[in-house]
Amino acid sequence: MSLIVQKFGGSSVANAERVFNVADIVTKTYAKGNDVVVVVSAQGDTTDDLIEKAKEINPDASKREMDMLLSSGEQISASLLAMAIEKLGYPVISLLGWQAGFQTTSAYGSARIKRVLPERIKKEIDKHRIVVVTGFQGVNRYDDMTTLGRGGSDTSAVAIAAVMHADLCQIYTDVEGVYTADPRKVPNAKKLSVISYDEMLELATLGAQVLNNRSVEMAKKYNIELEVLSSLTRVPGTIVKEATKMEKMLISGVAKDENVSRISIIGVPDRPGFAFRLFSKLAAKNINVDIILQSVGRNGTKDISFTISSDNLKEAMEILQSYVESTGANYLDYNDNIAKVSVVGAGMESHPGIASDMFEALFEANINIHMISTSEIKISVLIDREDADKAVSAIHNKFFDVE
Ligand code: ADP
Ligand code: ASP
Ligand code: MG
Repeated sequence: MSLIVQKFGGSSVANAERVFNVADIVTKTYAKGNDVVVVVSAQGDTTDDLIEKAKEINPDASKREMDMLLSSGEQISASLLAMAIEKLGYPVISLLGWQAGFQTTSAYGSARIKRVLPERIKKEIDKHRIVVVTGFQGVNRYDDMTTLGRGGSDTSAVAIAAVMHADLCQIYTDVEGVYTADPRKVPNAKKLSVISYDEMLELATLGAQVLNNRSVEMAKKYNIELEVLSSLTRVPGTIVKEATKMEKMLISGVAKDENVSRISIIGVPDRPGFAFRLFSKLAAKNINVDIILQSVGRNGTKDISFTISSDNLKEAMEILQSYVESTGANYLDYNDNIAKVSVVGAGMESHPGIASDMFEALFEANINIHMISTSEIKISVLIDREDADKAVSAIHNKFFDVE
């Protein structure tokens, strides 16, 4: 007998028919003699709809109240799924994040899981019940509901798999696995049968929504093999696992992130300490900086540009406005109409020419590059947002359409 964790995303539980489809998958797994813990997201676009509802009342609502609201979406789907499983005649119980032992930091809206105390889940499994747990949520030390950030249910599932030492963790979604690019945007994208944690982590961080990056980080840390698969077609999906067991892929995928903005500070005095003070001001507010570009000094001044998540743009500009004036820099400017497109592949370490192929693809599509950043297993370029989809297709075709 095995312990299996199965996570179902919003589209997998979007309506009554889909809820019964999930109940069928879960109960078939249970009927084979397995213990099953199910993690669910809110139905369909519920989380987006709740955010819109909040905006109608108060666009500046506190993060605490937002979490109180958003956590309700998962409560609905968990209870409905439990009801469907009851109807099929199987023993089941649904639990909220706090009942399932999800203790988090107090950062409303982007809480991190500190620990999962699975006593209640274990007790219910001992009673031979299927346990349905709300994804995306936990409780902080003030006994308040918290949420883990968008897409956080994947992380809830991996955390349960880790703490329960599950034999298998399946992430059911609306595509058949992890593809070489978003299959909804790039029709000739290919499904990968297997991908390493490191490559999946890069793809997820660089915008491939199919798995939340924190879930991949956690899976790697606790060595939990994941299977990403469709709840609708029931064919084998993509396995995410440690790289040592497989060949390195030259390129595993192309990803796009449209939620980025660029800030530039022009005419900064060319003296030591500026970059340190600038970035420590952002770090103090937990604002993550991504690509950084500094020009060569000339005439005693230099320029610094960097990218951040668009979610942080307003706050970052407020922080920097007065600081930049006090330093004597010429001016501060931003561009929130950009996108980051990246290629990821563990094999590029030992294959020169990947960057030039990528740049050639962009040149052939007449797309201008604003910034470039590289690591051992990825190359990212910053381009105009209107070019993003075209860029993904052009780069994807360059690497994958070799007949
Ligand atoms: P869920 O609600 O199940 O969590 P998400 O919408 O969060 O599902 O993630 C699935 C979506 O991720 C797919 O519908 C697909 O459009 C998108 N996606 C982006 N990049 C990729 C990729 N490389 N492989 C598969 N899906 C991707
Ligand atoms: N319902 C949450 C969201 O839409 C969490 C998730 O789906 O993973 O972001
Ligand atoms: Mg998701």
